[in-house]
Amino acid sequence: MQQAPLQDRLSRPLGVVRLSLTARCNLNCPYCLPEGKDRSGLLGVEERRELVTASVDLGAHTLRLTGGEPLLDGDLETLITALQSLRPRLKRIALTSNGLLLSAERAKALRKAGLDSVTLSLDGSDATSVARMSGRRDGGWVLEQVLAAIEHARSAGFDPAQGGLKLNAVIQRDVNEDQVLPLASLARQRGLELRLIEYMDVGNRNGWHPDQVLSAATMVSRIHSHWPLQPLDREANATHRRWRYRDGGGGGAGAADAPPISTIASITEPFCGDCNRLRITADGFAFSCLFASSGTDLRPWLRPRPQAAALRQALADLWRSRSDRYSEERAERRARATTDSNLPPHAEMAYLGG
Ligand code: SAM
Ligand code: SF4
Repeated sequence: MQQAPLQDRLSRPLGVVRLSLTARCNLNCPYCLPEGKDRSGLLGVEERRELVTASVDLGAHTLRLTGGEPLLDGDLETLITALQSLRPRLKRIALTSNGLLLSAERAKALRKAGLDSVTLSLDGSDATSVARMSGRRDGGWVLEQVLAAIEHARSAGFDPAQGGLKLNAVIQRDVNEDQVLPLASLARQRGLELRLIEYMDVGNRNGWHPDQVLSAATMVSRIHSHWPLQPLDREANATHRRWRYRDGGGGGAGAADAPPISTIASITEPFCGDCNRLRITADGFAFSCLFASSGTDLRPWLRPRPQAAALRQALADLWRSRSDRYSEERAERRARATTDSNLPPHAEMAYLGG
């Protein structure tokens, strides 16, 4: 049942659903700090399928599966297979992962199930910086696993030239800012788009402070001084900005298929006006903003058995009442709060799924 896309109170349509499959993770990135266990009452495959169906009925066209680490979920392929019935209204099913569990077999199974794209996260290009950013001592091994995962995904048919394979990197001032150029080089050599993400104040456990943010503009200018860049047009409802390499990119690729770089500048250039994302946690809470303190429990419409019409109505009501624009209000809120402890609490990143 397709209806006209819903609009929230700021006229933003529902477009993307980010579904977290678990809050657990096999890394312990200090800027994210997952809790180590899931809350009780995780949704099952059927409940997740109902939620995505209701969202697609309300106009969502893209699903991003995330976590915690989504590859820890053994039912991932079953879910993706079950969601194929929502094609073609559901245009894209994407996965964000740290890649540690992306073996050649898993990559093939995900592709076969109908996954469209994979984004792998990697915040450093050497063992020391990967160890620092992943919270693991064996940074060299983690790096090797992610580099292997890139090739497994590529071999399974996730094509970087079609947006099927990308790299995410969070950059923190004074922590891994020296990795901007090496990561750009690594992505160029491998023909991948590199998405550079400003360190965000999601959650409370990471002790975020504005001084720890390296602006996307600084990241871009560092790359530009080495490999000149040219801005690309911003896509509608995109949370990122993109640049192409004037030399056409690396890896021997021609200009036509050169990988761009992109930035997510949630801190220095908030994009709330374009935010079309609904977030659903692994235990069934809907969050209308990445920086929200609390969500809406959707389980009453899922248990003991899903009630499709009532669930759709609940999601529609939630979206229509949405007016969040936290990133745009961040500076003002922080100025009003006399100390950081006066700021409202945020849900944690690994629980929300980014
Ligand atoms: N575990 C998977 C991964 O790391 O790709 C998926 C979940 S993770 C929460 C999704 C993305 O959020 C990752 O690219 C991660 O680097 C990013 N992220 C986590 N905490 C962040 C923060 N405080 N600021 C900016 N990005 C963050
Ligand atoms: Fe795990 Fe991803 Fe959080 Fe790192 S960013 S701890 S890989 S959920």
